[in-house]
Amino acid sequence: MRLFFVVSSLSFVCLSQGQSKIDVLHYTYRIELNDKNDTVAGTAFIRFIVKEELSSVSLDLADLNRDHKGMIVIFAGINMFDGRGNISLGYSRKNDKVLINTAWNKSPLKRGDTATIVIEYKGIPSDGLIISKNKYGHRTFFADNWPNRAHNWIPCVDDPADKASVEFIVTAPSHYQVVSNGIQVEEIELPGNKKRTHYKEDVPLPTKVMVIGVADFAVDKVGYVNSVPVYSWVFPENKKEGFYDYAIAKDILAFFINYIGPYPYKKLANVQSKTIFGGMENAGAIFYAESSVTGYRSEEALLAHEIAHQWFGDMATEKSFAHLWLSEGFATYFAHIYIEEKYGKERFTKEMQAERDKIIGFVKRSRKPVVDPVSPYMDLLNTNSYEKGSWVLHMLRRQFGDSVFKKSIRTYYETYAGKNETL
Ligand SMILES: [Zn+2]
Repeated sequence: MRLFFVVSSLSFVCLSQGQSKIDVLHYTYRIELNDKNDTVAGTAFIRFIVKEELSSVSLDLADLNRDHKGMIVIFAGINMFDGRGNISLGYSRKNDKVLINTAWNKSPLKRGDTATIVIEYKGIPSDGLIISKNKYGHRTFFADNWPNRAHNWIPCVDDPADKASVEFIVTAPSHYQVVSNGIQVEEIELPGNKKRTHYKEDVPLPTKVMVIGVADFAVDKVGYVNSVPVYSWVFPENKKEGFYDYAIAKDILAFFINYIGPYPYKKLANVQSKTIFGGMENAGAIFYAESSVTGYRSEEALLAHEIAHQWFGDMATEKSFAHLWLSEGFATYFAHIYIEEKYGKERFTKEMQAERDKIIGFVKRSRKPVVDPVSPYMDLLNTNSYEKGSWVLHMLRRQFGDSVFKKSIRTYYETYAGKNETL
């Protein structure tokens, strides 16, 4: 993502990221939203494979806080796919987790077992799904999960190392349009002026980039790049400027497919939204700050940064946030490479020089390493992860030459696509 304003005043809980005993394979979320209040009602179906024998499953889900925001569990159960149907299970809540007792028949789940946990829940999210008004005074719902804020509105293993495919089935008042990861498989009007919209993403994603965006939108199909459809989703009041600004994504996508490899997802939507970041690289549905629409294509480099993340961060993902430069350093440098190709060496060199000065200033103030397992996640959004990571790649390119560098990038991506890496 790209920072927009100072977010360090917000507090973020670092979840214990111990090795989970399950590997989530697929999430299905049924989410109901309304215009009367900010309560979200959800049912989650979480299919997983057991990595280690266990008698309970631990999932991340925000407890109720002092303001009565957070999620209440209404029902927890399991389906074992062996004809026994849904079995209601006991559970307990502690430290933003739901601990579900899976040893109902006195035998633990064994390594290799596959099961689906069902959790019905509701509450007003204190974070993660931002329910507010846009600059035109219209109500909007935008997920904003990075780094581990997804569990504020969906039960999950909120850790980038556990990727899973995901589908969102959203029921909302019918005047809204819904955007999400993957492909829209259904949009159907329901009684009572409601609409159900279903999106499905088959490529496993980390929770940090799983989203829904629900608002009044104007949508433009910009065209196709290598049969990938490219869309712009903007607030209707910004239609003219927004469609013009975001249409540039087509050129950026074409450049990166050519340089790095095939685009990992089935569509690319660039979405005007409300995020605490300037832009957030949600897979196949990138969210940008409201102010990204200007009518002058002034955020071309931001679009390039977020689109580069689709390969680096979303598809090839750091194993833990300590290795964030594998997302941010790569996205930063690949935005520079795109700008170099389009506007020439002079602008590129100037930008790299400015980045180098920023790094020198940062190093004088901070002695933190680039791979930093200690700092809170939000503090990792620093010059080390972005500019220094970018410069490491630039130095490698200078050392090896353009052709070997490009080949190495393509090999690196091919090796880690769909997986998690550390370097
Ligand atoms: Zn970024």
